[in-house]
Amino acid sequence: MKRVVILGAGESGTGSAMLAQSRGFDVFVSDAGPIAEAYRNELSMHHIQWEQGQHSEACILNADEVIKSPGIPEKATIIQALRRCNVPIISEIEFAARYTDAKIIAITGSNGKTTTTLLTYHILKSAGLNVGLAGNVGNSFARQVATQSFDYYVLELSSFQLDDTYTFRAHVAVLLNITPDHLDRYHYNMQEYVDAKFRIIQNQTPEDAFIYWNDDPLIQAEIEKRTIVAQKFPFSMSKGTGIKAFIENQLLVIETPESQMQIEQAELSLMGRHNLFNSLAAAISANLYKIRKENIREALGSFKGVEHRLESVASVRGVAYVNDSKATNVNSCWYALESVKTPIVLILGGTDKGNDYSEIESLVRDKVKALIFMGLDNQKLHAFFDGMGPVIREAGSMQEAVDAAYELAEKGDTVLLSPCCASFDLFLNYEDRGRQFKQCVLAL
Ligand code: ADP
Repeated sequence: MKRVVILGAGESGTGSAMLAQSRGFDVFVSDAGPIAEAYRNELSMHHIQWEQGQHSEACILNADEVIKSPGIPEKATIIQALRRCNVPIISEIEFAARYTDAKIIAITGSNGKTTTTLLTYHILKSAGLNVGLAGNVGNSFARQVATQSFDYYVLELSSFQLDDTYTFRAHVAVLLNITPDHLDRYHYNMQEYVDAKFRIIQNQTPEDAFIYWNDDPLIQAEIEKRTIVAQKFPFSMSKGTGIKAFIENQLLVIETPESQMQIEQAELSLMGRHNLFNSLAAAISANLYKIRKENIREALGSFKGVEHRLESVASVRGVAYVNDSKATNVNSCWYALESVKTPIVLILGGTDKGNDYSEIESLVRDKVKALIFMGLDNQKLHAFFDGMGPVIREAGSMQEAVDAAYELAEKGDTVLLSPCCASFDLFLNYEDRGRQFKQCVLAL
């Protein structure tokens, strides 16, 4: 009997274990840390063997195939040992895709994945398609393949999830943008990160579609180097040869072989230039699956937005407070700064991932009146921003940051939490950071 070992028992690992077991494999789950109680119970209930707090090589190296959680880096001892034994290692996405005939829309990029995934799902679902939502959001793809039967899936895929895919095929692949992120996991080598993102189009056939942001210099350069097999659907800020969706006179224009449509920018529920791109990408996918124009238009107007992404929290004494805690890299902060039309008090800082702040320098000079550095180690921020113009403050907690912002902001300003950094120095994760921000603001 084929032995499948699963490393990491989070949502994707537990889902993979359930799927593997339902296919009759000999399954073992191993997690070097503690496994959450709910997952432990679920594994036991399905009579799946598991261990926590260790990786017992004797039970792992004898696997025919290993499914690895995207959180485990290549350099981990157990991965190195498996490589030496030539045991194939795949991702949950690769594994689950083998067992579904559904049409797959896979979405990746450095920023905008969650928003575009949820938006695309919202359009397809509101149009009545039998569609599932998976990847980085909600229940794992493997769990849904094991327990549900969808005709379509919209998948949010990070570069880590793409890393261990080999035969996975996206019928529609969406590449939103590529800017430096997670370089710590790619030997600080940008090309390695770009290659991981481009795995989204591997195995595509001429019947498939590749939707991408044409204004991105990295994507353009990469496309010139490669032979693209799928049909290309570039989108852009402006009209041009071969561009299938663009902005013209405040209109979103989408021109696919299936249909042509225009949507007024003002009809969109999401604000900010980046969301024009996300909307164009989602609308192309919907068009390819022949969703009616009025459904697409209606859904783009009724989408509720996603928590922690340019989320309006409250207006206190004429100051708007915006939670963009999910801005964990410099580029997403750029879009946040770009979208705010008032003077800004910016709260930023946290765990640095090799950031280059020069990308936001001119927006900071133009729009930001005060910077609040909220991190355990703010040296790099001081070195870059001190003396640039804005007032500089430090905060060792969210409460201190919000108090400082309250003091510094005047009527008509915006206090923006858009940290450019991961959150793990002071918070559990970006959700915790965003929630604490909202609590502090609502208590002002
Ligand atoms: P991801 O899932 O890729 O992290 P999200 O949709 O969660 O993307 O958004 C992450 C951050 O990036 C948020 O701060 C959001 O405002 C910003 N953002 C969203 N879409 C884009 C885009 N197309 N380009 C740049 N930044 C974006």
